[in-house]
Formats: sequence, structure tokens, C-alpha cells
Amino acid sequence: MGKVAVAAAVVCAAAVSAGAVLVVRHRMRNSGKWAKAMDILREFEDRCGTPIAKLRQVADAMTVEMHAGLASDGGSKLKMLISYVDNLPTGDETGIFYALDLGGTNFRVLRVKLGGADNVKKEFTEVSIPSHLMTGTCEDLFDFIAGELAKFVATEGEDMHITAGTQRELGFTFSFPVKQSSIAGGTLVRWTKGFNIEDAVGQDVVDELTKAMERIGLDMRVSALVNDTVGTLAGGRYSNTNVIAAVILGTGTNAAYVERANAIPKWQGLLPKSGEMVINMEWGNFRSSHLPLTEFDENLDNASLNPGEQIFEKIISGMYLGEIVRRVLLKMAKEAEFFGETVPLKLETQFVLRTPDMSAMHHDSTPDLKVVATKLKDILEISNTSLKMRRVIVEVCETVATRGARLSAAGILGILKKIGRDTIKEGEEPQKSVIAMDGGLFEHYTKFRKAMQTAMDELLGEEASNNILIELSNDGSGLGAALLAASHSQYREYIEST
Ligand code: ADP
Ligand code: MG
Repeated sequence: MGKVAVAAAVVCAAAVSAGAVLVVRHRMRNSGKWAKAMDILREFEDRCGTPIAKLRQVADAMTVEMHAGLASDGGSKLKMLISYVDNLPTGDETGIFYALDLGGTNFRVLRVKLGGADNVKKEFTEVSIPSHLMTGTCEDLFDFIAGELAKFVATEGEDMHITAGTQRELGFTFSFPVKQSSIAGGTLVRWTKGFNIEDAVGQDVVDELTKAMERIGLDMRVSALVNDTVGTLAGGRYSNTNVIAAVILGTGTNAAYVERANAIPKWQGLLPKSGEMVINMEWGNFRSSHLPLTEFDENLDNASLNPGEQIFEKIISGMYLGEIVRRVLLKMAKEAEFFGETVPLKLETQFVLRTPDMSAMHHDSTPDLKVVATKLKDILEISNTSLKMRRVIVEVCETVATRGARLSAAGILGILKKIGRDTIKEGEEPQKSVIAMDGGLFEHYTKFRKAMQTAMDELLGEEASNNILIELSNDGSGLGAALLAASHSQYREYIEST
């Protein structure tokens, strides 16, 4: 070999080894970043842990708060609102009634013809609420609702006409905290779920709706004002007498249950004949030192429209689950360059990752996680992810959903304990208890629903869990509101006496 050739070979070898060093360094840096991302993930998982012992503490705390909220107004984070519903439907209700369901992104208008428990004809329409109305004025919101209601009334067919000379009646499902003064009246305590219409707080929502209907000349009487949980309970009871509670897991979350009227110290009215009263817990506002909260939950809360409020809701309901996932991914992007050197811009936008999209990623059963890749690309404009990265993203979804689902189960156990239905009493015939469930999260997020059932079974043990059923009561709340309008109809005595 000549001198030149030797020199060239040496230079070449040097270049190769320098290159190799660069690759190794790059790999080391990458593996350092990967390790950092894994640290973030593991720490998040640890903090979200919901072992059975913790769930029991949460359930006990729920029971304690229920007692406190029933004892006095303001006695607890749980408002434990008296619904004035002391008689649940029997199945004998008849007639044509309207219902309106306002409480989230969509609102529904319903027309129901009641002719006995298995003879119900329903017609409905669903309208999404323009977002500017969610933070506008009270009058604008109610004018919009009354307008949509009037349009729907105009579509009444021949077989759905009310008796000549009578007034149409409406059950109004209004799924925000309301302090009721009667079955058909109550003032708004505060907004939740992204609504924030200041001049409506403290107003009687039935008056506001009635005024809006008058403004457009729609002649209709609001005969019952109910929360969606109360409506779901009523709707569920219509077809199953074992229904004792209702839980909503949708945009927000809440629960209602049947309480003994003499176990409500703050109830100042006459004891109802039935001896029972439906309580709207407003459980979304539950909080306890036992809740497994993380830095992401704290930051989400601080940035929300209602900081410090609805903490339970903010870790279990549909409005927030996707947002928690986004916040975890954002930290991984910022501190571990999880998606590369720059943080994807879209990932910085609050609420871009919605729970249905999180759910789609979580349920991705393709071997290479194609759905995850597509969602990342379409929603966050992130491409070129490795399978390994996509697996991490699924794991974040799994952690967030599982925590929410298991805490929901703990909440239900709290209710069952309060009414003594969590165990089978020795020597007694086992009683069946049914929890009527509704809401898009419970209905569509299969892995959430399954994790919740698993936690329920673990908490109750085999024998008790055989007698406690968690059942989807699809749109029970609309039917329930119509049924409650029927049982509080101005023509009730006339109907009963004919
Ligand atoms: P609302 O609670 O607004 O009255 P729904 O009960 O229909 O309405 O619930 C809608 C919510 O359910 C959405 O905001 C979303 O969080 C959740 N949701 C809807 N579809 C899905 C899905 N496929 N997977 C997970 N969550 C879903
Ligand atoms: Mg709803």
C-alpha cells in the first residue's frame, strides 16, 4: 500500500469512528429522553393508582359527605339537593307530554305518548348549542331553547295531538345545580361543564323558560323541573321497580338516589306519604384527600372556568378525560422531547383532544395502532410516531380512563352504603338493587364501562355484586322528565277521576 493510500485509510477509519461516536451519543441522548418520558409515565401511573383500599376510603368519604350534606345546607361539598320528587312513576301514567333536556353540548326535545309501562311512543330531536350562547346572556340562551322547542311542537303529527282545550305540558331536565323550591321551580346555584352565563345564576330557571316561551307565543306549562339524574331515576323506575339510584357519566357526572325522607334532617317540609325523597347529590363537586390527584389535575383545575369546584367531575367525566391525556403528553413533549425537538403546536391547545378521540385510541385493536397514528395526525398534526410511542399513548389513555372508572365505582359504593344496600343481610331474602346509568361516556367508552364493573365486583364481593346491577338506561332522563310532568300535571286530578 502506498503512503497516500495508508493516509486515506486512516482518515476514513477516523471518520467512521467519529460517525459511530455521534450515533452512539445520539442514541444515548435518545435513550435518555425515552427514559425521562418513561419516568413521567410511571410517576403519573403511580399517582393515579386506585387499589381497593383506596377505593374503600373514597366510598367511605362519599358516605360521610352525604350525611353532612343531608344534615344542613352548606354542610358539605355535596349539595344533596332535595328534588321534590317523592313519588316515582308507577307505570300507570298516561297522556302526551313534552320534555326538554339541557345539560351539555346538545339539548334534546322530546314528545312522549304514555300508555302504560311498555307502551311508550317517543319522538325527539337533538340540537347542539351554539358555543357563544354558553357564555352569553340568560335571555339569549332561553330564547334559543324556546325557539327550538316551538319548531318541534310544530311537527306534532295527528296521533300526537293533545286534547283540545288543554295546555301542553313539559318536563324540563336541567342538568346544572339548582336549588328547588317546588317540583316546578328552582334557582340556578352555579354553572358547570363549560357554561358560564352570569346573569342566570340565582334566577328561577322555570320562570326564565316560561318568559322565553311567552316572548315567542308558545303556550306551554312547565310542570316539572328535574335534574338529569332525577329524570334517569324516574325513567328507570318506570320499567324496573328495583332502580334505587341513577348515575350520569357524560360530559359531566352526577348521581341521584332514593332516600328515606326521615333521614334528611334539613328537610323542613311535610313528610311525604311515600316516606321517600329523591336526592340530587351533585356528586361532581365531591372531593376528598383520598382522591388520587396529580399535577395535571391541579393544572387543569386552575385553568378551568370553575377552579376549585367539581373536582370529582374533573377526574372522571367525559369533558375532562381527553384533556388530562393531552396534559400528560404535553409534559412528555416538553420535558422529554417525546415528539421530537419541538413541541407540537396543536398539543398546546386546551381541550383539542376530546374524550371520544381518546376512547378511539384506547380501543385501537390494529396490530400497528393505526387508529392512534391517524388521531395523532388529524388532531395534533403529529406524524412519524413509532409503534413504541403509540403504545405509550395508549397507556396514558388506559391510566386516565381506569382511574375515572374505578372512582365512579367507589362513588356508587358510597351511595349503596348510605342506604344499606352494599351487603346482603344475613337471613334476609337478597334484595336486587339497580343503578340506572346514562351518559355518552358510559354508553360509548367500553373499556371505561368494563373497568367500572370490575371495580364494582371487587368492592362488593361475589354475592352482593350478583344483586347489584349497573344498567344502561338510554335516554331515561327525557322519558323520566315527561313522566314527572305527567305525575305533576295540572290535569292530574281530572285524569285520575275519569
Ligand atoms: P351530555 O352529558 O352533554 O348531556 P351525553 O350524555 O351524550 O351528553 O354525553 C356526551 C359526552 O360523552 C361527550 O362530551 C363525551 O365526553 C362522551 N362521549 C361521547 N361519545 C364518546 C365515545 N365514543 N367515547 C368516549 N366518550 C364519549
Ligand atoms: Mg345528558
